Amino acid sequence: MKHIIIAIDGHSSTGKSTFAKAIASVLDYTYLDSGALYRAVTLYALQHGMIGENGIPHAQRIADSLPAISLSFRKDPVSGKNRTWMNGHNVEELIRSLEVSRHVSPVSEISEVRDFVDVQLRKWGEKKGIVMDGRDIGSAVFPNAELKIFMTAPAEIRARRRLEEMTAKGEKASYEEVLANVLERDRLDSGREKHPLVKAPDAVLLDNGNMTVEQQMEWFKKLMKRKWGITLK
Ligand code: C5P
Repeated sequence: MKHIIIAIDGHSSTGKSTFAKAIASVLDYTYLDSGALYRAVTLYALQHGMIGENGIPHAQRIADSLPAISLSFRKDPVSGKNRTWMNGHNVEELIRSLEVSRHVSPVSEISEVRDFVDVQLRKWGEKKGIVMDGRDIGSAVFPNAELKIFMTAPAEIRARRRLEEMTAKGEKASYEEVLANVLERDRLDSGREKHPLVKAPDAVLLDNGNMTVEQQMEWFKKLMKRKWGITLK
């Protein structure tokens, strides 16, 4: 199969990254997590006091500081997993905290932040042979991606999954708190002016509310067979 770009978009906590990683592994592609970059910029803003007590980010200060933020993904030599690095530090754990999750959507609404992240993503996408997940990959970052998948699931199921993930990592949060965060991110992601979360017209819909990861992979393999006549193991 020739190297293509696979764009996976969808609502928060739909398991996009798990699915995207599994696809990348089956195809021997590179997985890129666009949300990690928005999270890293948000972490930077929090660390430098650029988010007000009211939760409103100082857009101009954040925009001005973007040239000072250097982002990359590096493979961990022990686990073999891709880790997010910012300015010489591995920030993978820090960017997954509830604190960052709470502030990331308003930060990702800032037009300069989106442009900054898009430049990075497009540079990495030049190589093709990538699976990238996010909110606007198929609709805005790579509108010509050869394959676009849009994932969704009921908010309650997404909140349960996210809570399980956090509990497994030893992070404390209540179901109500996590559900509120999921709903708020949906609202902000779908309502923002620049590059809102929308299903690209040519994206294939995957509602995985009642599907295991294995079932989603079966679905993907059938899709590859149907679309390109490719049989994947
Ligand atoms: O995918 P993840 O939940 O880690 O993304 C964190 C946040 O970054 C999202 O809630 C969304 O606000 C923002 N995001 C975005 N566009 C993307 C990826 C993520 O606005 N392509």
